Amino acid sequence: MKTLQNLIGGKWEDSQDSALNDLVNPATENVIAHYPSGSCDDIDRAVAAAVQAQPGWAELPVAERVEHLLRWADEIAEHAEDLAELECQEMGKPVALGRYFIDGGVQGFRTAVDDALTYPFAETVPGADGSTTTILRHPLGATAVITPWNFPVPMVLGALGPLLASGNTVVVKPSERSPLSTARLFELSTLPPGVVNLVLGDARAGAPLVEHRQIRLVHFTGSVDTGRRIGAATGERLCRSILELGGKDPVVVDAGVDPVATAAAIAFGAFVNTGQICTSMERIYVHQDIAEAFVDALVDAAATYTLGDGHNPETVLGPLVDARQRDIVHRHVIDAVERGAHVRIGGVIPKRAGFFYPATVLTDVDDSMLAMTEETFGPLAPVVVVSSFEEGLDRASSSRFALGATVYTHNPDHAAAAAAIPAGVTWVNQWQGGGSERLYEPAGESGMGATGARAAYDAATRPSTIHTAPTTASALS
Ligand code: NAD
Repeated sequence: MKTLQNLIGGKWEDSQDSALNDLVNPATENVIAHYPSGSCDDIDRAVAAAVQAQPGWAELPVAERVEHLLRWADEIAEHAEDLAELECQEMGKPVALGRYFIDGGVQGFRTAVDDALTYPFAETVPGADGSTTTILRHPLGATAVITPWNFPVPMVLGALGPLLASGNTVVVKPSERSPLSTARLFELSTLPPGVVNLVLGDARAGAPLVEHRQIRLVHFTGSVDTGRRIGAATGERLCRSILELGGKDPVVVDAGVDPVATAAAIAFGAFVNTGQICTSMERIYVHQDIAEAFVDALVDAAATYTLGDGHNPETVLGPLVDARQRDIVHRHVIDAVERGAHVRIGGVIPKRAGFFYPATVLTDVDDSMLAMTEETFGPLAPVVVVSSFEEGLDRASSSRFALGATVYTHNPDHAAAAAAIPAGVTWVNQWQGGGSERLYEPAGESGMGATGARAAYDAATRPSTIHTAPTTASALS
């Protein structure tokens, strides 16, 4: 059975700590690989490699860095199916769905890397008095990327493009729950040694990485609790961090929309990837005028989410990543039922191997329930009936999370009012979209640090200004 290794300075090597853990396929509960826990020594070695490689990488002309990165993108695109297969084995995502998101991730990576060709790394502005002001944007140095398990390959690619194209080098610490596909991604790397380094493990690798004095930026995607710890550790040593954290995204359904079509769209937003998306629809506020037809249609749609092993083409809903995640979903359902909610479909752990949970719809839900206050990260659709669009908007805005939000309405005033929901991204009459133009910063506890489009380059670089006096006014004249 495969024992996963770290990639440090271009060489694959065993962890300095010999303790190994089992990686379990969540659809079968079979052990499929072993991975290290991670250690300070691994991190020290990887950061040293990143620090050593950084000046040479940054000295390359931008176009040459872009060329290197696009070559890697070509390799990844060629092996997208293998990567989707590995994601299915390690975290249960159906292969076709994984392939779709990996193809999108590679496309996003290419677009983000290409942006380097037009990003103003050096800009000179002439002053009216004959002086010049030059603004240079420098790479930060060695940086860290820490990712969760819900989109293993796209999540790493999404963070790496602007960081690397700006001349930084990177140490990546993927989730311990999905190291297989990331390790394969790094086997495909065509970059010079040390430009990207991979250290596997859990918090025993993650914590020393964020605390390392030579890491100049931490790009973290994960839970609010871990994000808080990382914010404290990086704040302590005045290191920049971008924190992309959890959500409890609302969707507001106005009177007047087609209840059946909207329910189908919302079923997708709540259940795709088995609900394991930071912007999954987790709170549904539906106008009373269409509530009954909407709930019936949502239950019908949920019934079509056939669960099973992601290798089976019939499967729409793979397992949750592990028993712990499955049990969180069930705990939210039990808590809601104990407080008066009704399960309209689902809500029972299937008696079979694997960490499966069915697409579940709850009604008679109120804002005291865990299903409405805590991130579920599973296939759960809790529905609240509201008496007006304004009430839906108010309640949608009342969470401590504020990552994304969606509104379905045919009323142009209501569509405009959707902008009032605190969120990094708000979608109107569709869910997801916005591609490479997206520019956002989560609000509330969902994170900090603007990213996307040009903001990703601003985050990956440090500007400095050189002001040169006009020759006549200078002390040398
Ligand atoms: P998590 O916070 O448990 O782990 C994320 C990563 O942090 C893992 O690689 C983990 O090993 C590492 N880690 C854990 N403790 C650490 C520490 N003390 N120091 C450094 N690293 C540490 O999150 P998870 O369960 O893997 O992922 C699910 C969460 O990610 C959900 O809350 C989800 O909403 C969020 N998420 C957010 C986005 C976004 O863009 N905002 C995208 C995807 C997932």
